[in-house]
Amino acid sequence: MILMRLVVGPLQVNCFILADEGTKEAVVIDPGDDAGDILKIIKEKGLKVKYIVNTHAHFDHVGANQAIKEATGAALLIHKGDEPVLASASRQSAAFGMNPVSSSSADRFVNQGDVITAGEVSLTVLHTPGHSPGGISVLEQGMVFTGDALFAGSIGRTDLPGGDLLTLLRSIKTNLMTLPDDTKVFPGHGPASTIGDERKENPFLNKESGFE
Ligand SMILES: [Zn+2]
Ligand SMILES: [Zn+2]
Repeated sequence: MILMRLVVGPLQVNCFILADEGTKEAVVIDPGDDAGDILKIIKEKGLKVKYIVNTHAHFDHVGANQAIKEATGAALLIHKGDEPVLASASRQSAAFGMNPVSSSSADRFVNQGDVITAGEVSLTVLHTPGHSPGGISVLEQGMVFTGDALFAGSIGRTDLPGGDLLTLLRSIKTNLMTLPDDTKVFPGHGPASTIGDERKENPFLNKESGFE
């Protein structure tokens, strides 16, 4: 399987491309910006993008949805809980003083336990709300893409509309910390980690922070 990471946009979102080396079918996770760079790789590798998955619909994760969709015909998948968030992408970017962002609307909604497949790529959806209502993580063999729910050494902010700290902690506890320690964590921003390292070292995941 091909796994590539591009850091895109002013907020440095990790955009991931997962592809089947045989069939060249691919999934793009969080094309937040820099559509030209993402499409260049897709073209160079001859990938057929089946799906665009947004871990959540904050503007920094969705800015290149439309361009990738138009260029590849991929279907855009989000959790329904973030439908209003996706619709407000341009307002969010304005609130952050950034260039206006717009996205096509979702083609399909995904829920806890759904499996997104593109050739040998098989992503299981985990609903991990709290940073936003429709936040999801997606799980491949031995790796999980956590969006802005869980970072290396940190967790997502919960002060944006629809955010809630206890909900986020519960999501992390039930859907992420139940994964094996050697599961690689690929967050929406910053470096990769493992579930085991976060279990041991993440300062937000201890009793003092309300995490039990
Ligand atoms: Zn976010
Ligand atoms: Zn983000």
